[in-house]
Amino acid sequence: MSHVVVIGAGQAGSSLVAKLRSSGFEGQITLIGEENAPPYQRPPLSKAYLLGEMEKERLFLRPEAFYADNGIALKLGQPVTAIDAAAKTVTVGGETIGYDQLALTTGSIPRRLPASIGGDLGGVFTVRDLKDVDAMAPEVTEGRRVLIVGGGYIGLEAAAVCSKKGMQVTLVEMADRILQRVASPQTSNYFRDLHKSHGVDIREGVGLSHLTGEGRVSGAVLSDGSDLALDMVIVGVGILPATGPAEMAGVELENGIRTDAHGRTSNPSIWAAGDCASFPYKGGRIRLESVQNAIDQAECVALNIMGEGKHYVPEPWFWSDQYDTKLQIAGLNIGYDEIVTREAEGTLSFWYYKGDQFLAVDAINDPRGYMVGKRLLSMGKSPDKAAVADPATELKALLKA
Ligand SMILES: Cc1cc2nc3c(=O)[nH]c(=O)nc-3n(C[C@H](O)[C@H](O)[C@H](O)COP(=O)(O)OP(=O)(O)OC[C@H]3O[C@@H](n4cnc5c(N)ncnc54)[C@H](O)[C@@H]3O)c2cc1C
Repeated sequence: MSHVVVIGAGQAGSSLVAKLRSSGFEGQITLIGEENAPPYQRPPLSKAYLLGEMEKERLFLRPEAFYADNGIALKLGQPVTAIDAAAKTVTVGGETIGYDQLALTTGSIPRRLPASIGGDLGGVFTVRDLKDVDAMAPEVTEGRRVLIVGGGYIGLEAAAVCSKKGMQVTLVEMADRILQRVASPQTSNYFRDLHKSHGVDIREGVGLSHLTGEGRVSGAVLSDGSDLALDMVIVGVGILPATGPAEMAGVELENGIRTDAHGRTSNPSIWAAGDCASFPYKGGRIRLESVQNAIDQAECVALNIMGEGKHYVPEPWFWSDQYDTKLQIAGLNIGYDEIVTREAEGTLSFWYYKGDQFLAVDAINDPRGYMVGKRLLSMGKSPDKAAVADPATELKALLKA
């Protein structure tokens, strides 16, 4: 009987093994994860869970019993330390396990501040896993002073939580504007104003020079020469694909684990999905860091392990919660040259175009704008720009035009 071993018990790994079983795979399945917790969702880590408004058990993607009930051997708490791709074995916790097919769903690793600028001081945190957030949460309390390094979604969500908790929050972003890598100037402006209205001190075009403190952080010097007294620091400066096991297996890397359109790596018995995988997209290659991508790609790989030969075609969507604002994004805005703004009935959305081609929408407290944008993208339709901008246009009418 064939044995599928999956390394990385996160969003993609959990989806992959569940899909194998629900699709009738009858062989052996082993899911290996280095964290102690069963597979869990990460988005609440920088939102409701950090805020203390969500129980840990609600993070778990499936009840722990699901794995045993479905004949999935779950090995937690130990990293894979060796892979022999020729012998088709993986080593974990001193045990060597044979596989027929191997899937790598190892996610990503947060970039950290180097020790040379104080990154190893106490009170400096990243927001990647439960361990990080459980260590940080007791420090997120009223009246304390926090520096957030990085104005991407993770940094901004952490800033919103800290501000809601009554902390004094300063956020530095080295680029000219927050969210520069991922969103339009209009979206950046909206979130800058939102944070400022909650008292967050946002400093753009300013980086961190170094942290100060003896053993524990007590201050920071910024690139403009200013200094801050601090109680803690949260670092949200991006992630790197986790390629350790892929390197052990000797598969090709290219901004993550290189796969073909089926999710297969350069070794025909080894697959990859989720944050760690880069795959063909519109004549190039892309790696996506989102829940939806992790689930859909992992399910596609599960079917392909069973011989379906499916191409993975992403239908990207993403969300971010900050204060009472919900941002929902459909599509990918890569290569946009025009933004159409729509303001209607208390909602706001920014529609990205390349020429006349509709690429993506950022919908702010606007679930309808998001749903219609998503539908338009899946239908391959590009709505007329003037109609989108006109608040009198019924959004649903765009689907029929
Ligand atoms: C704080 C935070 C907020 C987020 N918010 C959103 C959001 O609002 N919307 C959204 O769409 N996405 C969000 N994301 C991104 C989303 O959570 C990820 O894209 C998703 O978890 C990727 O799934 P994955 O399975 O590829 O990786 P992960 O879920 O990270 O799982 C990978 C697992 O592999 C394990 N692993 C790695 N190496 C080894 C090894 N050698 N041996 C054994 N195990 C190993 C890791 O420990 C980890 O548990 C957020 C992420 C974070 C951290």
